[in-house]
Amino acid sequence: MVTKAPAKTEYEAVIGLETHCQLSTDTKIFCNCSTTFGADPNHQVCPICMGMPGVLPVLNETVLEYAVKAGRALNCEIAKYSKFDRKQYFYPDLPKNYQVSQYDLPIAEHGWLEIEIVDEQGEATCKKIGITRLHMEEDAGKLVHGGSDRLAGSTHSLVDFNRTGVPLIEIVSEPDMRTGLEAAEYAQEIRRIVRYLGVSDGNMQEGSLRCDVNISVRPRGQKEFGTKVEIKNMNSFSAIQRAIDYEIARQIEAIESGEPIIQETRLWEEGAQRTIGMRSKEGSSDYRYFPEPDLTPIEVAPSLLKQWQSELPELPAAKRHRYEEEIGLSPYDTRILTDDHAITQYFETTLAAGASAKQAANWLMGDITGYLNNENLSITDIALTPEALAELIQLIEANTISGKIAKELLPELLTKGGSPKALVEQKGLTQISDAATLESLIDEVLAAHPQELEQYRNGKTKLQGFFMGQVMKRTSGRADPKAANQMLAKKLKG
Ligand SMILES: [Zn+2]
Repeated sequence: MVTKAPAKTEYEAVIGLETHCQLSTDTKIFCNCSTTFGADPNHQVCPICMGMPGVLPVLNETVLEYAVKAGRALNCEIAKYSKFDRKQYFYPDLPKNYQVSQYDLPIAEHGWLEIEIVDEQGEATCKKIGITRLHMEEDAGKLVHGGSDRLAGSTHSLVDFNRTGVPLIEIVSEPDMRTGLEAAEYAQEIRRIVRYLGVSDGNMQEGSLRCDVNISVRPRGQKEFGTKVEIKNMNSFSAIQRAIDYEIARQIEAIESGEPIIQETRLWEEGAQRTIGMRSKEGSSDYRYFPEPDLTPIEVAPSLLKQWQSELPELPAAKRHRYEEEIGLSPYDTRILTDDHAITQYFETTLAAGASAKQAANWLMGDITGYLNNENLSITDIALTPEALAELIQLIEANTISGKIAKELLPELLTKGGSPKALVEQKGLTQISDAATLESLIDEVLAAHPQELEQYRNGKTKLQGFFMGQVMKRTSGRADPKAANQMLAKKLKG
C-alpha cells in the first residue's frame, strides 16, 4: 500500500481597499473656509464647520463636480438621486459628534479601474479591479499630542479644526486583489487618476491620499471569505505592499497553527515592519446613520453631467495603451512617462512641437531624469522647455549636430534655457558633414600619423578607431560620425 503525505494547503489572499482622497477645492465642503495646508491651528474655521447650533451647511458645487468626474473616470454610474447622511460617533476631533457622509445612496457606484503590472522581464499584465462605490464626505479635525510623562506618555492633547469640513471622496474597491503588489498598484492608479483629473494632489505624506486595507486569506478554491482584518496607517505605496505581505503570512501562520483570526483593526508599524492589533472592529450599525436634514438631496442635471464628462482628460490606462500600441514604447518606458502627470505633459508637448516619440522618450528618461534625480528637482523646475527639447532633437535628426554635442549642450540648456539652435550657432558647433571638408580633414590626420597608417595597411585594421578619434579630436566632436567613418574607410582602402 502506498501512503501519500497530506497535501500542503495553498492559500490565497482576498484584498479590498478603502481610499480617502482629499479634494483640492479652495474652500471646504459646506462653508467658505479656506482649505490651504499649513495655516495656524484653528484659523480656518467658522460656525458651520465647527457645528454650532442653528447653522446651515450648503454643498460646494466644485466638490460635486470633482466627485462626479472621479466617479466617471472610475467607470462608475452616477446616481440620479443621491443624498448625505450623518454618521454618528464621538471623538474629540469631531465637534458635531457626527460626520456628514453618504450611506445608502452614494454619488457613484459599480465601476472599475485597470491596473498594469510590469514583471521583471518587462512584460505587462492588465487586470480590472471593481469599484463598489464612491461617496463624498467631510474630513474630521486633527489631534496633536503634546508634552511627555514617563508613565502616562503624552500629558495633553490639542485639537486643530482647520481640517474639519475639508472635502473628501472615499473610494471602496471590490475584494478583487490577491497580492500586496496588486493593492499597491491599485492605490497608485487611483492617485494617477485623481492627479490627471486635477481633483486632488494625491499627496500621501500630507495625508491627501489615505488607504485602509481589508484582507483575509482562504484555502485556494474555497468560495467563502475568511475573517477579514483591516490595516490602517500606511503612508506610502511600498508600505501598503509590505503591510499586506506581512499580514498574509501572519494569517496563514495563525490558521496553520489553529489560532482563530479575530476581526479587528491593525496598525502598520513602519519601524518594526509588522502589524499590531488596535481594536476590534465595530459594525456599520454602530454609527446610527440617518439622512442629513440640513442638506437637500442631489440630482445632477443631465446637461451638467454631459459637460463634466466632456471635460475628462485622457486617463492613465488609455494613455498607457496608446503609448505602447501607437508609439511603440515598452511597458517600462510607458510607465515612467505616464506615472507623473507633469512628465506626461512635458512629453506630449515635446511631441506636439515636432520631436519623434522615441527620441523624446529617450532624452526624458535618460539624461533629463538623471539630472532631475541628481539635483533633486522636478520637471517643472528646469529651464529647458519642451519646445526647446524638440528643437534639440530636430538638430540631431537633421545632422546639424551630433548626439554627443547635444549631450554637451544639455546642462546649459537645463539651467539657462534658451534656443538650442541659437546656442549651436553662437558656439560654432554645427556638425561638419560636407564631403570636401571631411576629406581634407582625414587627409591631414593620415598624413600626421604615417606609422599608424603603415601598421593599418599591414593588417592592424582596428586602428580605424584611432583615426576616427583623431578626426573627432581635431573637430572638437563636430565631424558627422557616419559620413566621416565612411570617408575614412574609403581613404584607408585607397
Ligand atoms: Zn467653516
